[in-house]
Amino acid sequence: MSNSAAIVPFVDLSFQHDPIQAEITQQVQALLERGDFILGQAVSDFEVAFAAACNVPYGIGVASGTEAIALGLRACGIGPGDEVLLPTNTFIATLIGVLQTGATPILVDCDPTTALIDLVAAEKRITPKTRAIVPVHLYGQMVSPRQLLDLASSYDLLIFEDAAQAHMAEREGYRAGAIGVAAAFSFYPSKNLGAIGDGGMVVTQDEIIAQTVRSLRNYGSPRKYIHTDYGINSRLDTLQAAVLKLKLPYLAGWNQARNEIAQQYDALLQPLQASGLEPIQNQSGTGHVYHLYVIRIGASCLIDRTILQEALSAAGIQTGIHYPIPCHLQPAYHDLGYGVGDFPKAEALSHEILSLPMYPGMTGEQVERVVTAIDSALYPAETSRRSVYTTSPV
Ligand SMILES: *Cc1c(COP(=O)(O)O)cnc(C)c1O
Repeated sequence: MSNSAAIVPFVDLSFQHDPIQAEITQQVQALLERGDFILGQAVSDFEVAFAAACNVPYGIGVASGTEAIALGLRACGIGPGDEVLLPTNTFIATLIGVLQTGATPILVDCDPTTALIDLVAAEKRITPKTRAIVPVHLYGQMVSPRQLLDLASSYDLLIFEDAAQAHMAEREGYRAGAIGVAAAFSFYPSKNLGAIGDGGMVVTQDEIIAQTVRSLRNYGSPRKYIHTDYGINSRLDTLQAAVLKLKLPYLAGWNQARNEIAQQYDALLQPLQASGLEPIQNQSGTGHVYHLYVIRIGASCLIDRTILQEALSAAGIQTGIHYPIPCHLQPAYHDLGYGVGDFPKAEALSHEILSLPMYPGMTGEQVERVVTAIDSALYPAETSRRSVYTTSPV
């Protein structure tokens, strides 16, 4: 029995885990009996299965998405003296991954309608030292593969995708992870495919890069006690791989569910666009995997973003902001030399965006409640408007 006082959580993973709880427990039990805790059979099984789901030949499990970026770029030969293009409006891990290689990150502004990296702006920042571009498939939508490949071939750049929010996303016939020479995924629990802890993967079309990442993640050691690379310890746990392998067959269905929720949001929010509120544009149809559903509360909107977020919170609706401070304004990275005003579109966007609840298992009635609450915040005096959006009294 639903009631309007119930919370609409931002994310609820129980819909993914409840149906397979017994199988997860069984995997843990079997692992305890086998004892192959490090680089066990489940790791290679999951590497093969996930790479296949990305349409690429090789997958190498690592400890996190951040290290997938760092080790993947290093395996591609990126290091000190190289310049690497990346968007400023991304999760900080994209920047951390690039910095860990010793390369110089070159931040780039975004297209405010999609929140994706602005490739025209990226082109203007290319110098003779630019070796790579790290497009981030933000919120689950891919950066245009066609435009990326054009840019990369004109300037002889390597494409390394940050696909941490885009498991099995598609655009222009490409899957996320299959555009460039290599790509990074994260299995942080709330990602479209999540572990029950940390995890990540580098996927690649290149056998040498695959071998190098395998060595780098394991003390730089292609064979036991022979160390040919400056490696680290960054392996995907067998336990996490076993759980991820269990969950992988559900991923396409979960992404489909996210798409249906997004379509419902799109339809219900349509009448509110006149008030200055609009969803981030989807330019990839059902290939968008909606890691997040993000709206923009523009400067001309009837309501301020903070006030809307507080009103939703008071109505029991949890929201998020991804991300409130672009990378170039984060205090730790002051030394990179960027300041306020350097990336006006990303800065403006960071004040306008709001992520609404989105997860497989979210019901149509919950989506309606979110939009009704937004509507009430926008038009507090009018009660009649609300009936337009709901099929039943809430
Ligand atoms: C989550 C995320 C990462 C980092 O992944 P971790 O597994 O948390 O290290 C990198 N880039 C983006 C865009 C992400 O969303």
